[in-house]
Amino acid sequence: MNEELGAAITLSINASRLLRSSIERAGFDKVKAGYVEAEKFQELHWKDLSVILEWQSSLVTERYKEPWWYFSRKDVHEELKRAALSPDGLGSIPRLVLGAHVERVDVQSHTAVLSSGERFQGDVIIGADGIRSASGNSVFGKLQTVPEGLSAYRCMIRSEKLKENPATAILVDSTKVLMLIGPNRRIVAYPCSNWNWINFVCIFPDNKDRRLQWNDTVTVQEMVETFQDFHPSIPAALSMASNTGIWQLRDRVPLQTLVKGCYAMIGDAAHAMGPHQGQGACQALEDAEALRITLKGATRCDVSARLKIYDELRVERIAKVMEYTRAMAPSTTDSREVNHTTTQTYSDYYWSYKITQDAVALMRKHGHALKVVDEVTGEVEFE
Ligand SMILES: Cc1cc2nc3c(=O)[nH]c(=O)nc-3n(C[C@H](O)[C@H](O)[C@H](O)COP(=O)(O)OP(=O)(O)OC[C@H]3O[C@@H](n4cnc5c(N)ncnc54)[C@H](O)[C@@H]3O)c2cc1C
Repeated sequence: MNEELGAAITLSINASRLLRSSIERAGFDKVKAGYVEAEKFQELHWKDLSVILEWQSSLVTERYKEPWWYFSRKDVHEELKRAALSPDGLGSIPRLVLGAHVERVDVQSHTAVLSSGERFQGDVIIGADGIRSASGNSVFGKLQTVPEGLSAYRCMIRSEKLKENPATAILVDSTKVLMLIGPNRRIVAYPCSNWNWINFVCIFPDNKDRRLQWNDTVTVQEMVETFQDFHPSIPAALSMASNTGIWQLRDRVPLQTLVKGCYAMIGDAAHAMGPHQGQGACQALEDAEALRITLKGATRCDVSARLKIYDELRVERIAKVMEYTRAMAPSTTDSREVNHTTTQTYSDYYWSYKITQDAVALMRKHGHALKVVDEVTGEVEFE
């Protein structure tokens, strides 16, 4: 988490569907997480800021019956943690051990071994340790990732600062999400943290070997220079950043399975993908919901059979989301070549999906007579 303090995240329809149902039922409060719902989306010309495409967010939320939210990562992480550890939440209170660097997982003995030598045993072990997943590498052998040939600068700038400056006020003249697609480069900017901050993600070609520094800090000057030829409001805004970072974009090579015995992977460990469709963390939330349902009422003896259902539920969908995300990477979608029909097909695939219902249906197919007893909260029970 320490790596991500300075950035924001969009959790779109398929994720907000879960945040508003099962995750809210478990205690998550979007207000405490400083959520933002933007008024509109605009694609602007990178050089003169003329509007190329614009749509109201309400069109999407009406169509899919869910909102589209923007958060600071720090806020949403803190709120998820508060809900998970709260005595008012569901089930027993988990014990959170910080600074616990997992070195490997031994599936046979159901053990996670830390680099300190400490060992933890569990009926089920979930590897949620990101793209470099030490747990996944120890269970499956080295899991491959490929660089996309792109990196992303990220920074957050105070909305007030942008509004006060005549050179940048145009970027925040309404509550909007902005996308600027320039030659080989792309900028997405959106509000977060109760509107107090604007988050910038600036993607550019980069073939430097950053394997050991996926989360490198950069100077503001370097970032400004890379986007110097964009509309003057862009370098003016980027020069206001005080806390910048650079992320090399890498994809996980799609996996045939996410599960072995008592061990399952979720999140970037299972399916790291570029940020081009804003689905990485949304898919991680779907993974979590899938586990909630497939492990419902599980016993030590049937954990591995249940995880196989999780695998069946997730592998195909994840592979497709990764494929679509790759298809929308800047190198193939420069400037006007964005095919909006294709984009709509992809969006439909991400957003119309209801994992809760799909997971319950698959459990029933495998002989577990689950049903959704409350559509609003996603509560499930055995018949
Ligand atoms: C520029 C950029 C923008 C993005 N924007 C979006 C977006 O708008 N919407 C979206 O849905 N997704 C987005 N994503 C993707 C999203 O950030 C990831 O999918 C998400 O963070 C994955 O969460 P995770 O918990 O699986 O992995 P991570 O966020 O990588 O977290 C892994 C955790 O495991 C810990 N860890 C690592 N190794 C070990 C170990 N050996 N032992 C113990 N702990 C360990 C780490 O410290 C960390 O806390 C973006 C990604 C990038 C690069």
